[in-house]
Amino acid sequence: MIKFTERAPYAPVEYLYDVEEILYKGKSAFQDIMVIRNPYYGKMLILDDVVQITERDEFFYHEMLTHVVMHAHPNPKKVIVIGGGDGGVVREVLKHKTIEKVYFVEIDEEVINISKRFFPSVCSGVDDPRVEIKIMDGADFIAKRKAADIDAVIIDSTDIIGFARSLFTPEFFTSVRNCLTDPGLFVTHTESLHFHKDMVIEIQEALKNVFPLVDLYTTAIATYPGNWWAFAVASKGESPREIRNKGKIKAKYYSHEVHQQSFMPRSLYERLMKRELEW
Ligand code: SAM
Repeated sequence: MIKFTERAPYAPVEYLYDVEEILYKGKSAFQDIMVIRNPYYGKMLILDDVVQITERDEFFYHEMLTHVVMHAHPNPKKVIVIGGGDGGVVREVLKHKTIEKVYFVEIDEEVINISKRFFPSVCSGVDDPRVEIKIMDGADFIAKRKAADIDAVIIDSTDIIGFARSLFTPEFFTSVRNCLTDPGLFVTHTESLHFHKDMVIEIQEALKNVFPLVDLYTTAIATYPGNWWAFAVASKGESPREIRNKGKIKAKYYSHEVHQQSFMPRSLYERLMKRELEW
């Protein structure tokens, strides 16, 4: 059987996947795009040789990236999703009945086209009339916004290299804060607590320079290097640990209990931020 090897960005490991079939292989203006089929994960979307989503387990990541902020906000109406060309986060955002508008800002239109073709159940929401697709760099989109009218900004980018770097700068975090409503929230993935602990801490610190309240929650993702995946969440003061939105949604993994248990215990968080955790 053919194999696909992922060389993990900034981690001294490689992951080897069995490939039943290569369904698509091409190149966009921004990156190499490949879709393969693995006997366990089903179809897998791979960008620049890095696994992005798999049919089998995409919901863990998409639900956890989306629903924590969507439930910490009492009444989310307007949301910006940056990256996420596969459409998974947009699908999850639209599960909330309060949603009136989603700006879906993806730099690479080809990722959306390939996802519509090969992952229709993930990409199912992108043509919803409430979704406005913007093909551009998410940092430019946020920097140009004038009003503070957004309830949640959700970053679903590739790893923090190349053109995704613009989404992790102090200037970007400041522009995000300026476009949020008062109980507004921001969330981004920050890689793994095993391989990328320093990066996780540095992003928390950078956000703390801009937002009054910053926190960290995690979930396990089978196909991301280090697996123990960390999300940074920031707000203008309201704790994201609390559930304010009582609207019901259908999810496979996320629940209010998972929400509350996914946050890092405060004593561990303090030790992490003091760089006392020795692993
Ligand atoms: N869940 C995936 C993961 O963490 O591996 C990410 C999936 S999604 C396909 C990532 C998307 O972010 C890609 O389609 C990429 O084109 C997009 N992206 C990266 N940097 C971006 C930027 N600065 N502005 C907008 N989109 C960006």
